[in-house]
Amino acid sequence: MKKGILIKYGEIVLKGINRAQFENVLIKDIHIALRGMDESAIRKEQGRLYISLPESVTGEREADEWIQEACRRLQYVFGILRICPVDVLEEDAIEIIGRKMAEYVKREFDQGHTFKVICKRANKHYPMNSMEVAAEVGAMVLDEVEGWTVNVHEPEVLLYVELRNQVYIYGKEIAGPGGLPVGTGGKSTLLLSGGIDSPVAGWMMARRGIRLSAVYFHAHPYTSERAKEKVLDLARIVSRYSGPIPVYVIPFTEIQLAIYERCHHEKLTIIMRRMMMLIAEKIAAKEGSDSLITGENVGQVASQTLASMFCTNAVCTLPVYRPVIAFDKQEIVEIARKIDTFETSILPYEDCCTIFVAKHPTTQPKLADIVEAEKPLLVDMDEMIDRAVNDAELYLCHPDSYKKVNNSAEA
Ligand code: ATP
Ligand code: MG
Repeated sequence: MKKGILIKYGEIVLKGINRAQFENVLIKDIHIALRGMDESAIRKEQGRLYISLPESVTGEREADEWIQEACRRLQYVFGILRICPVDVLEEDAIEIIGRKMAEYVKREFDQGHTFKVICKRANKHYPMNSMEVAAEVGAMVLDEVEGWTVNVHEPEVLLYVELRNQVYIYGKEIAGPGGLPVGTGGKSTLLLSGGIDSPVAGWMMARRGIRLSAVYFHAHPYTSERAKEKVLDLARIVSRYSGPIPVYVIPFTEIQLAIYERCHHEKLTIIMRRMMMLIAEKIAAKEGSDSLITGENVGQVASQTLASMFCTNAVCTLPVYRPVIAFDKQEIVEIARKIDTFETSILPYEDCCTIFVAKHPTTQPKLADIVEAEKPLLVDMDEMIDRAVNDAELYLCHPDSYKKVNNSAEA
């Protein structure tokens, strides 16, 4: 019995002439996801991809284990809508398809269900049409498998026959993460804090095919080593989906102290966020990104009123994407749980924003007032920003680990 995996990729099929390019990126991303599992071949199959098992995998049990591990990994590959472990038939005679489907059902399900057979006939030379194939195969399942009955309107199980270069049969589908393959959507730089929102924001943009880099503002010694490690851990978790993420850890203490000493405390938060944006834009330039991403969300805190975000945004020259802007907290938490960042995000390590905060931050700042309040910084602001960028530590975060890739300064 030959087995394999059929991949359904949804949205890519809508892409007209770009489709081949999208498929090629998806194939590359799948190869990366399956790395170390020996070479498996991936082939285009008219609107699907087919993954065949490596030749080194022989025997039923090994094949099942291989497929199980591959399916686990494929659930992290953006662009995949559904993952279907399939039986591949050597022959396409209708009696054989029917008999094999009955065997498949007996093997894969342990009790009776209502079912319906769906046939996709991509092989236009096949002598029967898809309705006829579905009817024949359905009849054989009814005959041979005890307890199964047809229900065309609300079946519990859909049994698929796909007539392509080969014949595929299957009745189980695993949900993929959807979206578009990473690498098809350009690059963006995420302001990644240790909170719940920004990892989710980064994940959402990566899901649209965007490759991420990240910036974290670290106020040593006011924020601890563990706070930094928590952020690197979050990047590591997101990288299961997005691929490796370079994370720039920016030494932010000098700037924060300067703001604290020289500027009106009511306006601290907004000024600090404006400095973050200026630095993030410099990192974006290094990384070839043409946008920033934040986890900002309307109304959660004083710095996130529309008036505050207007003032923050006013220093930016790049577009700033805020994918969770209008989500309820609970909705963000749901995604954080699904992608497994939640438990790390709620670890109780301090964030630089929460250390230098005013007792009564303005919630309705005026841009002119903020610009005025910033003036005492101007004497050496450019130098401070350059120092922060040049002294950044750069880490590369992979699913299993992260490692420092510069000794600061060099970047
Ligand atoms: P999060 O849950 O992402 O921390 P939050 O609700 O705590 O968000 P803020 O602390 O106001 O909100 O931060 C808003 C956004 O600013 C964050 O989502 C993140 O994109 C960015 N940000 C805040 N602090 C930092 C930091 N120390 N380093 C990098 N980015 C930061
Ligand atoms: Mg935060």
